[in-house]
Amino acid sequence: MDYRAIQSVVQEWHVHITGQNYGSIEQQLLTWAAWAQSPSIATHEPTHADDCMVWCQGWVEKIKNTLHPIRKGEIPGACPECHATEAWDNVDGERTRIGHAIAALGGVAKCLNCGTQWQGKDLHALAAKLRQAEVDAAAKAAAMENERQLQLLPA
Ligand SMILES: [Zn+2]
Repeated sequence: MDYRAIQSVVQEWHVHITGQNYGSIEQQLLTWAAWAQSPSIATHEPTHADDCMVWCQGWVEKIKNTLHPIRKGEIPGACPECHATEAWDNVDGERTRIGHAIAALGGVAKCLNCGTQWQGKDLHALAAKLRQAEVDAAAKAAAMENERQLQLLPA
């Protein structure tokens, strides 16, 4: 989402309404909003005002996220639900690793693989499961190393 994407939508509406393309993006947006709320349009096509509002609210959210991005932290470990350890996405047609499966987004942890979310008390349960998985993995590795050492001993 950038300025040109917003301008493109606003311009398209302005041309639809006035048949012309003139004025700043702000002036065109005001024309669109005034037109959508005008009594004749609002009465016969009430969805136009809603559409205009939905577009504007979406842009406000994206601008806010650009100016004040939500801090995203990665949480190593396997998702207790889907067991994924990594998250993948399609980037320019290629399957690309985008990080650990579980990400911390504000006060919520989310598995980017299966979509499971943890918040509030569930975050403590997630932490406990991840710690237990670490302990289990360490114990398994120690047991395997012990087994390997035993096999090296002369019979
Ligand atoms: Zn998952």
